[in-house]
Amino acid sequence: MAFYITTPIYYVNAAPHLGHAYTAIAADVMARHQRQRGEDVFFLTGTDEHGEPVALAAEREGVSPQELADRNAERFRALMPQLDVSNDYFIRTTDEGHKVRVQEILQRVHDNGHVYKGMYEGWYCPRCADFKTDAEIGPDNTCPIHRIPLDREREENWFFRLSTFQEQLEQLYDGQSDFVLPKVRFNEARSFIAGGLQDVSLSRAKLNWGVPVPWDPEHVFYVWFDALLNYYTALSFAHDGTDETDKFWPADFHVIGKDILKFHAVFWPAMLLAADIPLPEHLFIHGFLLMKDASGEEHKMSKSLGNVLDPFEVMDQFGTDALRYYCFREVSFGLDGSVSTTTFGERYTSELANEYGNLASRTLNMIGRYCDGKVPDVAVEPQLAADFDGLPAEVAALLDRAEITQALDRIWARVRRLNRYVEEKAPWKLAKDPDAAAELQTTLRSLAEGLRALTVLLSPYMPESTGKLLAALGDERLELSAAEFGDGSGGGSIGELPPLFPKPQ
Ligand SMILES: [Zn+2]
Repeated sequence: MAFYITTPIYYVNAAPHLGHAYTAIAADVMARHQRQRGEDVFFLTGTDEHGEPVALAAEREGVSPQELADRNAERFRALMPQLDVSNDYFIRTTDEGHKVRVQEILQRVHDNGHVYKGMYEGWYCPRCADFKTDAEIGPDNTCPIHRIPLDREREENWFFRLSTFQEQLEQLYDGQSDFVLPKVRFNEARSFIAGGLQDVSLSRAKLNWGVPVPWDPEHVFYVWFDALLNYYTALSFAHDGTDETDKFWPADFHVIGKDILKFHAVFWPAMLLAADIPLPEHLFIHGFLLMKDASGEEHKMSKSLGNVLDPFEVMDQFGTDALRYYCFREVSFGLDGSVSTTTFGERYTSELANEYGNLASRTLNMIGRYCDGKVPDVAVEPQLAADFDGLPAEVAALLDRAEITQALDRIWARVRRLNRYVEEKAPWKLAKDPDAAAELQTTLRSLAEGLRALTVLLSPYMPESTGKLLAALGDERLELSAAEFGDGSGGGSIGELPPLFPKPQ
C-alpha cells in the first residue's frame, strides 16, 4: 500500500526555526511509522519561493529573487538531515516541473469556467501574502500574526469562483468527519465555510516573481495557489522521469500549522474540485509552540517576534533525538503549548537520561555481569507480557490519526512499567541468592525484551538512539510486528552501548 504525507513547503524568506522543525519532525514520525508497517511511503517537504515578500527582500538586498531563493532554500534543505527527517523529495516551487504542472492545472480550472477577471480591493499583509477578511484584521488594521500595518491594495486580478464551491465543501465536511483533524480545527474550518465563501484572487498583476498565468501572461498566479499545488505536482517529476501521481495521489496526510488552515482546509479542496482532482484523505492541523516572556505572557514561536528557542543549540548540546522527543512529549500535538529550556532540561534528565537511557544501560550491564553477556534463553514474565499486550496496534491506531503525543504517552507508560519491574525484582539481590537463578534469568530476559519492543516503537521518534540500543540488544528489526513483546528471542549476545543521553558538557 502507498502512503503519501507532506509538510507545508516553507517560505524561503524566513530563517529556519523551531516551528519549521516541529512540523517536519511530526511528519517524519508518521512517515517512519508507516515504513515500519511495510507501506510504500512518499514523504514530501520543500520550499515556497514565489510572491511579493521574496521579491521585496531580494530588492532590498540588491539580488535577483532567484538568487535569494537559491540561497535560502538551501538552508531548509540542509535542515532536514540535521533533524534526521527522512523526506523522499525536497520540492522547490521554482522547479521547472512544478511550474509547468501549475500552469496546466490552473488552465484546466480556467477552462472549466471557475475563473473571471475583476477588481480587487482589500487589506493585504505583505508578510502573509494574503488579503485579510474582516474577521482576520487585528486592531488598527494590523496583521494579527505579524503585528504590522496592513496595506490597502486595489488591483485588477483574476478571481477564483470559491463561492460556487460552498455547497460541495459543506457536503465534504458533513460527510467526512475526519477530513480535518483534530476536531477543534474541523469545526473552525466548517464554520468558516458556513460563514459564506467569497471569491478569491487567483493572480497578481503588479508582480512578476511567480508562475505566469498562461491565458494572461501579464499576471502571475497568486503565490498561495502556486504553493498549494506542490503537493500534487511533485509526484509527477520527483522520481526522475516517472510520473507517480496515480500511485500516491490522493495524499493520506497534509500536516500543517493552524495559521494556514484556511488555505488548506477551504481553498485547497475547492481548487482540486475545480480541477477535477481527487481530494486528500486528511489534513492534520497542529498548534503553536509558545514561549513565555518575562511577564508570563505566551507568544507564538516566531523569528519576527524575536523569541526564538534555537533548535540548533538544543541539537548541538543534547542531540537531535532529544529535540524530537521533547517537542511531542511536552506539548500535545494538535494543541498550543509552552516550551522552555527549563522543561526541556527536566524531561531530558528525568525521562530520557534516567527512565530510558539508564534503564537500557542497567539492563545491559546486568546481562553482562550476571549472564555472560547473553540474553537468557528462557520464557518472558507472563505478567509483564500482559501489560504490553496490544501496544503496537494501539500505537498504530493513534498514529493513523496523527495522535503523535498520545502514542508516545502509551509507549512511555511501559518504559515506566519496566522501571517499576526492575525495582520490584531487584535483580542485584536475586544475583546473590543461588535459589533465585531462574527468577534472575526470567527477569533479565523480560527486561531486555521489553526494552527491545519499546525501542522498536520509539524508533520513529528517536531514530538515532534507538538504532544504537537495538544494535546493542542484538536485534535490529524495525518492522511493527517486531514490536510485540515476546517477538524477540533469547540466547543472543549483547553489545556495547554508548551512553544514549549523556549529561551535556
Ligand atoms: Zn501577516
